[in-house]
Amino acid sequence: AQRTLVLIKPDAVARGLVGTILERYERKSLRIVALELRTIDAALSDAHYAEHLERAFYPDLRDFITSGPLVALVLEGDQAVEAVRGLNGATDGRKAAPGTIRGDWALSNQLNLVHGSDSPESAAREIALWFPSLASG
Ligand code: ATP
Repeated sequence: AQRTLVLIKPDAVARGLVGTILERYERKSLRIVALELRTIDAALSDAHYAEHLERAFYPDLRDFITSGPLVALVLEGDQAVEAVRGLNGATDGRKAAPGTIRGDWALSNQLNLVHGSDSPESAAREIALWFPSLASG
């Protein structure tokens, strides 16, 4: 089965949406294989968002993602990468479809509650970064 990295971002933790969001993934039949509450530093943000380092919005994104605890998890299941991105909805919460996590509970491009790896290759890279002990899986 495929694995993907999910972040339940600091806005979701602050709003008390962790359980509600986890329930969506679990009910989809995705299996939690790792899960940790942590507050990350700028170095991990830079590594995770390597492709966005030069973007104008990145300094704000880094401040946000390091601002408080987030929940990092690895989910496993058939086509887990695509399944999670479908559940998450479009990046911009203002445009995300109702029924998705962002569509139902976000109204922002940055405070958009969740992250999911965008490809199996990204998933492997991100899982190695966040959960080195799982890296070979
Ligand atoms: P994620 O990677 O978090 O699942 P995504 O793949 O849908 O989201 P990306 O384009 O990779 O979106 O952007 C990564 C993150 O950067 C977004 O989740 C959002 O938090 C932030 N972001 C993207 N575009 C903007 C923007 N224009 N302004 C502010 N923040 C942005």
